[in-house]
Amino acid sequence: PPSPLSSAFAAVLDSVLEHARPEASGAVATYIPELAVQDPEQLGIALASVRGTVHEAGDSAAEFTIQSVSKPFVFALALEQHGLAEVMRHVGLEPSGEPFNAISLDEQTGRPLNPMINAGAIVSSSLIRGDSAEEKFQVIGAGLSAFAGRSLDVDEAVFESEVATGDRNRALAYLARSAGTLASTSDVATTAYFRQCAVNVNARDLAIMAATLAGGGVNPVTRERVVREDVARWTTAVMTSCGMYDASGEWLVRVGLPAKSGVGGGIAALQPEQFGIGTFSPRLDARGNSVRGISMLESLSERHGLHMLEHR
Ligand code: GLN
Repeated sequence: PPSPLSSAFAAVLDSVLEHARPEASGAVATYIPELAVQDPEQLGIALASVRGTVHEAGDSAAEFTIQSVSKPFVFALALEQHGLAEVMRHVGLEPSGEPFNAISLDEQTGRPLNPMINAGAIVSSSLIRGDSAEEKFQVIGAGLSAFAGRSLDVDEAVFESEVATGDRNRALAYLARSAGTLASTSDVATTAYFRQCAVNVNARDLAIMAATLAGGGVNPVTRERVVREDVARWTTAVMTSCGMYDASGEWLVRVGLPAKSGVGGGIAALQPEQFGIGTFSPRLDARGNSVRGISMLESLSERHGLHMLEHR
């Protein structure tokens, strides 16, 4: 039978989910045509504690593509392979205050401003070991799966759709390449990046992935160490400053949890040493962040005093 604590958690998640449900604003992403076919009404949330208990509500098992929620995890894999100094030769750590697909390159250094926007994420993917996109994606896919604690697969239709419409991302890769900060050819980097964005996850996976960062790099369900503790800390720091793009500052004030959003409708958020949360709702605001995902995380944080700067 479920413990009293676990039914209390379930009631909390149900309550924030039902509070968010009527919110009808926003729209499903259409710039990647295959994302437009999603059912906009889907709504799910999951919370995984660093002790490995998972609580879920709504469509927490419904799959969607991870999109930009992959960025911090692939950044972590690049850090694990190369260390902070080497990664920082290629990508910066400063909030851009710009949209996710901004043409972003620091003029002095030729680096994208941070790894949470597309330009920087493509550079992270280029840094992953392997000569071909296939080799790089083998590492990326295995790494994302280790964060989630199960074997994740690729939505081939979404992948093809990104390949067919990804010229802006190719432009970002060429720009970084011309500035000397891309670590592979632009074709290899973008192909690996498009595949990484098309990985299928559900809200439960995102909760466990985030909880792995919260637990200092150890997956709380499988107990596998996925990345080093310093890598988990650096990654969480960048999520704190840059994870919600040009809404990151307001997010930090209102919600106060390191987080990362994706245009598939997912958000992963965490409280270090405590838990990870995954949310899923496909309708996005103008910045590409899930409207009801934000709503759920905002009310969870507010009602339960989860802000990282809460006086305890
Ligand atoms: N694959 C998407 C893109 O590159 C990811 C963007 C996002 O989720 N914000 O445009």
